[in-house]
Amino acid sequence: MDAVQKEHDRLWKRSKSSNTLDSAQQIIDALQHARDAIAAEPTSASVSLAKLHNPVKGSFEAINASLKEVYGGHNKYTKVLDRLFKDKPLPSNEIDALSPHPALVHRAIYLHLLREGLFDVATTLHAESTAISSMLEEKAGPGARDESTAAPLGIDETESNRMQEQFTSMYHILYELRENHNLRPAISWARDHTKALEIRGSNLEFELCRLQYVKLFLAEIEDASEQESATGPQRALQYAREEFQAFSGRYLLELRQLAGAMAFCPNLEESPYQSIFDNHTAWDEVVASFTREFCALMELSADSPLYIAATAGAIALPTLLKLQNIMQQKRTEWTTENELPVEIPLPPSYQFHSIFVCPVSKEQTTDQNPPMMMPCGHVIAQESLHRLSKGGKFKCPYCPGESHPRDAKKVFL
Ligand SMILES: [Zn+2]
Repeated sequence: MDAVQKEHDRLWKRSKSSNTLDSAQQIIDALQHARDAIAAEPTSASVSLAKLHNPVKGSFEAINASLKEVYGGHNKYTKVLDRLFKDKPLPSNEIDALSPHPALVHRAIYLHLLREGLFDVATTLHAESTAISSMLEEKAGPGARDESTAAPLGIDETESNRMQEQFTSMYHILYELRENHNLRPAISWARDHTKALEIRGSNLEFELCRLQYVKLFLAEIEDASEQESATGPQRALQYAREEFQAFSGRYLLELRQLAGAMAFCPNLEESPYQSIFDNHTAWDEVVASFTREFCALMELSADSPLYIAATAGAIALPTLLKLQNIMQQKRTEWTTENELPVEIPLPPSYQFHSIFVCPVSKEQTTDQNPPMMMPCGHVIAQESLHRLSKGGKFKCPYCPGESHPRDAKKVFL
């Protein structure tokens, strides 16, 4: 990739410093000059034309020379690009889990489009994939109808309309938050879903109300009539009196901090509460929390699974290509099913399932061989546990603790 960048930079520099344009301008100027001279003095035409000969020829040569340089640069750039991308087939799809399930792929794309708010495209995709599957159904004849053809994307129209409605309302609330810094629609949504949010242990409603308080506190008062009645902090105090009662149980400490800030009112920057009031990412944070909670109540993840899968795939691709090359060169094969012989490092936010490697057997635990915690708190795989204990009392391999296999508890990751 560096080589490409280098050639790109070189070409860019060369095309910028190129004097082709100057040379062309020189020819135009010389021609115009000669035309004017001949127009003014027609008898001097042959002399003027003869005078033109050398400068025009010189400028043409200069143009050709600088163009040659640019062409040369183009050639080199193309070669580097070819070298980087040529003859690199995509990783072979011996383990292709998705191609037998086109409906699942369509469904993922459809849901992604809905989540992006691209309802027109989503509706078209839904209609066309329904049409195609009913066509296939007709071809297959009666009796071939099964669940996958009944609702090709696994989402019927009512469900699809419901999702569109919900995403429309989500985008409306997000728009108000981002563009207008208006928290009221978000707060009212959170209030409507208090119970469900509470079950999830979500802080959303409090986060939103706290930001509303901060916003009021810091607000410049634009309306002259309001100016007389209350300052920013006064309005924040009024808001706190009206709204914060419900939070007094769970968020007492946070409420005290918000109230404490009042005392530092003219000099918040030097108060211990500065970080609450001068938080540049506060709006982005509530936008992220809101999206996460809204999607969670729809039983969807905060990020589109299609986006996550595509990004993780793009990150993994270079490693997979390298792996394929090495395997071809060494003529080896990897036979273990559903497992890669190399580690694909993904950023922490892309790791959804924690894994546990047994410190005794060095094997990754599975559903059949789950991690087990002994009463001393050390964890090993079930098979190692059986091997060590032979069914009786045994000593933990990592501490002096002794225990019986029946005291070990299965660990869920
Ligand atoms: Zn132990």
